[in-house]
Amino acid sequence: MIVVRCDACGGSVAFDAERARAQCLFCAAVALEPLPLDQPPPPPERVVPFAIDDAAAREGFAKWCRGSWWRPAALRDVALQLQPLWLPAWRARAEVELHWAGLVAARTRSGRRPRAGVDRGAAEAMIPASLGVSPAELAQAAPFPPASRSWSGHDGAIARELPSLTEAGARTRVLATLEATRLREVAAREHLHDAGGTARLHALATSLESLPVYIGAFRFRDRPWRVVINGATGKLVGRAPIDRVKLAIAIAIGVLLLLAFAWWSRPPDQPGEPEDDAQPSVARRRSS
Ligand SMILES: [Zn+2]
Repeated sequence: MIVVRCDACGGSVAFDAERARAQCLFCAAVALEPLPLDQPPPPPERVVPFAIDDAAAREGFAKWCRGSWWRPAALRDVALQLQPLWLPAWRARAEVELHWAGLVAARTRSGRRPRAGVDRGAAEAMIPASLGVSPAELAQAAPFPPASRSWSGHDGAIARELPSLTEAGARTRVLATLEATRLREVAAREHLHDAGGTARLHALATSLESLPVYIGAFRFRDRPWRVVINGATGKLVGRAPIDRVKLAIAIAIGVLLLLAFAWWSRPPDQPGEPEDDAQPSVARRRSS
């Protein structure tokens, strides 16, 4: 096994020695620095298996390319470099005791009345431990099914990103994340406005999971682009190039519509009126 770290994005990836790559999986940079392996990274604990194979992931990408009128037709011909990857994330489960307060609609002068309570419920949060894939990308690609098995030797055939966040680091983010999750649910259920609350966690369990993703990289108009595909569900996340001609046509149509509206809603023509408007003060001054 070898481990390389990208100077550009900070992502560290462990590969089988014979599958080493010259380019960063995440940002296509070539500034990869092999890390000394005196302490081999610990293997992940739990794994969410891949349910989508390479062909299905490519099919999903092709569908995505055709999925919107805005995408250039030439996008269908790009050479997609698809790489499966285990993405590290901490899954945290806890029983959340939430002390909440907020305002509900009422027949009072302000139309609101305070309300408070205590709620208990199980909640789960995924805290990404990746530098290569952003928390926003991971949140969009979610959900991932629960991890169903332990890490096995075979899983090492697929490259894995090394976690950039320790368990202690993840735990500091769990409280805020679970508190926000439960508060959103309670606020929706109780029809709360301006809801707030404090949570206490019971029976907190965290485990480092390897999430199945495909990183799809392609070049378009001399720029690198990237998509992330959830390897368990096939959900694709990414920004797509926009067809510039279609964009120009849409803008032109928008401008024409605005002009047409401005013309249509203009005040009726009353020839000579502007001069009349300007006159009275002068006229009054003359008459006084
Ligand atoms: Zn990189």
